[in-house]
Amino acid sequence: MKLCRFGEGRLGLVEGSEVKDVTAALDALPAYHYPLPQYDVMIANLDRVVARVREVAPTAGSVPLAGLKLLSPVANPGKIVAAPVNYTKHLEEAKADVQIHSNNPSHTLTIQKAGLFLKANSSLVGASEGIALRHLARRNDHEVELAVVIGKRCNKVSKEDALEYVAGYSIGLDISIRGSEDRSFRKSADSYTVLGPWLVTADEIPNPGVLDLWIKKNGETKQSSNTKYLILGVPELIEMASLFYTLYPGDVIITGTPEGVGPIEPGDTLLSYVQGVGEMTVGVGAAPGFEDSGVVA
Ligand code: MN
Repeated sequence: MKLCRFGEGRLGLVEGSEVKDVTAALDALPAYHYPLPQYDVMIANLDRVVARVREVAPTAGSVPLAGLKLLSPVANPGKIVAAPVNYTKHLEEAKADVQIHSNNPSHTLTIQKAGLFLKANSSLVGASEGIALRHLARRNDHEVELAVVIGKRCNKVSKEDALEYVAGYSIGLDISIRGSEDRSFRKSADSYTVLGPWLVTADEIPNPGVLDLWIKKNGETKQSSNTKYLILGVPELIEMASLFYTLYPGDVIITGTPEGVGPIEPGDTLLSYVQGVGEMTVGVGAAPGFEDSGVVA
């Protein structure tokens, strides 16, 4: 099942080029009161929501997918976990390009030595919200990644059991300001994490380790690879993450980007793809107040 969030918080069932408005299925959620849980309540109740979607879908109205305002399929992740340099060829290009490694030795450690990092939840947007760049004089790069959404609380889970805890998959864009600072700082600007265009439930992707993924900038292919080249695959990443912190429903893990990262600028359009998920179009602009932050000729 492909579930999207659209408009002003509506729930959609994606069926080809049509979306059924199944917002009524959210009545399957229990009532919550302050203080709210620190995890995503829709993902925490995904089994109930999916069952209710199946009930309401036959009589739900359809709207064309084109033109819908697509939001992040996970509204309130408790945390966004990210894998650095998790494809060998990307590690090689990072080592070879001073604009990527910025003479910070920690930027070119292997993932086994670097560990994982966290992106601010406030950096998260959906496909139609777009990327609003800051610090235009610096290099802002696209990174296309397979994104994993955790479905069930897990702590210290083995890689053999890890996929049992996955709710589904999306495309993740890990937009990055290049520079010497810590990754969590450079990659946490508002809108620098794009998740979408929808959530594909895990039953549709039994093996996340065999998926083609690519991204085009203005029609030109920039990155193209397959998740079989991940240094640490999805099970290993869940194992690694859960050795340090409990993972909760709705936590997002973006799994790392293959080679071919490169700069984006206001006016660009990114088309990205992950096999089994689909395609996602994202526009690039300048953040309000940062329009004149580029180099003046
Ligand atoms: Mn990344």
